[in-house]
Amino acid sequence: MSYSFYIKVYGCQMNDYDGQRIEDILVLNGFIKENNPLNADIVIFYTCNIREKAVHKLESTIGMIKSNKTKVIAVGGCVAQAEKDNIFKRIPRVNLSFGPSTYHKLPEYLNDLLHGKKKRIIDLNNYRLEKFDISNKRKEVTTSAYVAIQEGCDNFCTYCVVPYTRGREYSRPVIDVINEVKYLVANGAKEIVLGGQNVNSYHGEAPYITIGSNRKTWRIEELIKAISTIDGIKRLRYLTSHPKDFTVELMKVHNEVPMLVPFVHIPVQSGSDKILKLMNRNHTAREYLDKLKLFRDICPDIQFSSDFIVGFPGETEEDFNDTLKLVEEAKYTLSFYFKYSVRPNTPAAKMTNQIDEKIKEERLAKLIKALLKDQVYYNNELVGTTQEILITKKGKRKNQYIGKNVYMQSVIINSNENIIDQFKTTLIESASENCVFGKLLD
Ligand code: SF4
Repeated sequence: MSYSFYIKVYGCQMNDYDGQRIEDILVLNGFIKENNPLNADIVIFYTCNIREKAVHKLESTIGMIKSNKTKVIAVGGCVAQAEKDNIFKRIPRVNLSFGPSTYHKLPEYLNDLLHGKKKRIIDLNNYRLEKFDISNKRKEVTTSAYVAIQEGCDNFCTYCVVPYTRGREYSRPVIDVINEVKYLVANGAKEIVLGGQNVNSYHGEAPYITIGSNRKTWRIEELIKAISTIDGIKRLRYLTSHPKDFTVELMKVHNEVPMLVPFVHIPVQSGSDKILKLMNRNHTAREYLDKLKLFRDICPDIQFSSDFIVGFPGETEEDFNDTLKLVEEAKYTLSFYFKYSVRPNTPAAKMTNQIDEKIKEERLAKLIKALLKDQVYYNNELVGTTQEILITKKGKRKNQYIGKNVYMQSVIINSNENIIDQFKTTLIESASENCVFGKLLD
């Protein structure tokens, strides 16, 4: 008998990757994907615990699943790791809790629960090697494929749960990453996104030791060069990077590897040295800006995006103005911004001088205005240029498609044919705040 499963994933790109791998493992083991939770034998929530209310939200969502068909309710990811067996007390209907490094064991655990061998299972172990071992088995391969090369983090930024939930940094061996990329490309992938929480501190086991060197690991720039020799890759990206781990060698690789996009996400979070110190980011605003300048000197066509947190505990008007000054100097093509929100069990959650919500909202509005100024400028700069666009999804209107250029800007195109997952040469005709509009040339 085949059992059906429904999966809902919340959170970051790493969670999306894990969610895809969970789907692959289950389908390859005979489970059937179901899109409606009420029709599924197994309901899985794979989620982060970035907000205090994550478990409350999960509780009410699970409360709405009132179906006689439901046999297993599973909670996985960082929220499972953070809650430990408390999850069963808080949400008694949950009968499987699994951490982010255990999902390769799901077929076994689900079969045990479905056949009554066990009533409740929790696994929060760290089986990274085994987990990644199964990652090159996929039920389908998309044109843009994400490959996890690294997981976890040793940086302990005071607002972040990753070091506690995903654990310390782990880099996959070079040979495993290369084999996965080869498999993906052989099965249709054209854009490879090398991912991890702190991807530019990658130090994976070397496939061989270079003569004259006793280094047993490779850095990301060496990995990128090796991957670029695999036939069939059109675009290569990596994310997310930490500013302190950017080396001159990595910057230079952007000139040496043509398929490596001239676009890098380097989160700064704040422009105030005081706040950066409180965040434990391990660099100053000037050191960050100097790195961007050096990167631009080495690689003149490079563009940057960043993340910002406004209203971190203790942030004064002066600190916030330092962030606006940094934005003015950095000139980002694209950015992501958030109001600070408490992540349970992090040092920042215990800081006493939390900022009023209204002030956070006012500062966020000012920051968005400043960031959009540069974004609009760069979008307008694209008008009249020809761009290679990877079409990723349907737009809202009939015959409308949305794709991304190398700078991750959204490009809207009309086509009578389904062009999803294709690269298209496009003339950019106009621009708005958040996207540009193009005409197909091929
Ligand atoms: S570097 Fe990123 S993942 Fe690591 S602790 Fe800081 S915010 Fe979290």
